[in-house]
Amino acid sequence: MIEDSVMSKRDYYEVLGVARTASEAEIKSAFRKLAMKYHPDRNQGDKDAELKFKEVNEAYQVLSDSQKRAAYDRFGHAAFANGGSSAGPGFDANFSDFMSDIFENFFGEGRARRGPGGRERGADLRYNLEITLEEAFHGKAATIKIPTAVTCEVCAGTGAKAGSKPRPCPTCGGYGRVRSAQGFFAIERTCPNCHGRGEVIDDPCPGCGGAGRVTRERTLSVNIPAGVEDGTRIRLAGEGEAGFRGGPAGDLYIFLSIKPHPLFQRDAADLFCRVPISMVTAALGGEVIVPTLDGSDAKVKIPEGTQSGKQFRLKGKGMPVLRSRNVGDLYIQVVVETPQNLTRRQRELLQEFERESSGATHPESSGFFTRVREFLTG
Ligand SMILES: [Zn+2]
Ligand SMILES: [Zn+2]
Repeated sequence: MIEDSVMSKRDYYEVLGVARTASEAEIKSAFRKLAMKYHPDRNQGDKDAELKFKEVNEAYQVLSDSQKRAAYDRFGHAAFANGGSSAGPGFDANFSDFMSDIFENFFGEGRARRGPGGRERGADLRYNLEITLEEAFHGKAATIKIPTAVTCEVCAGTGAKAGSKPRPCPTCGGYGRVRSAQGFFAIERTCPNCHGRGEVIDDPCPGCGGAGRVTRERTLSVNIPAGVEDGTRIRLAGEGEAGFRGGPAGDLYIFLSIKPHPLFQRDAADLFCRVPISMVTAALGGEVIVPTLDGSDAKVKIPEGTQSGKQFRLKGKGMPVLRSRNVGDLYIQVVVETPQNLTRRQRELLQEFERESSGATHPESSGFFTRVREFLTG
């Protein structure tokens, strides 16, 4: 099932304003321009820009990844719809067909869906796992439960009752396909007797009804390494659905997403945090305590005369880099808060302060108004 939101989505190439034949470099440069244009820091409070920014990001996530791009070119937005599955939370059964299609076509593995004797490979499974930024920071041993087909213990996957064996299909001789002549043409089709399996079971296993596999909830532990990014895909080979009648198992793909954090924004290994400071601290200087993702507090020295928007870098306080010893930085951006709800006394003090002020107190604004006067008088 494709959701409405998917149907009404704009074409990713259109979003980035590039041709369908665009090179990786063209896509990257188009994305950079648009991301700069719609960045939330430049468009504060602008809902439209925020939506555009998200849309541009999403288009880039897909078109910059050759696998995802190829899937998008073939299936459109439907390639990424978490199709309607009733199998359980975070679980996507539709994914299986799509993945095997992609892998067969793009990796040339040519995995046969059906081998000799009807040994069909199990389907690939997708599991969506959401973690917090803290968990991405520290790494995590996650336990997940997946309802999936496993090999039947009673018949060890053969589908036949204990003591009996499947026998070759008499209609097709075990081939799984039959030929028939129609005029000049010989037409080959799936054997109607064994449905392509090449064998028939006279006494089906009571445990699985002859299918050779049963549905169980499987519990798996997955090691999420420190430094993973939003959209990371982890492949667990052979942990997908059991194969059919002794065929190889499919793979399990874990798609990670990281929840937005209330304090930190992440850009690759760097973290950003906006910290409000008082007008007085900004003017006189001081110290502020800022949070870090490892849970400890850090002190940032605010020099006298700090302007709003100034960034301070805390080296090595960002995210760990996946499979490396490198660590990103934490950028603290101070925002000077204009005082509100003043008492009469505070008002008087500020008015007195204003009378004492000169061009030297506010070099930027007095310089600006001088330029305005010059501009207006030619
Ligand atoms: Zn069985
Ligand atoms: Zn047959």
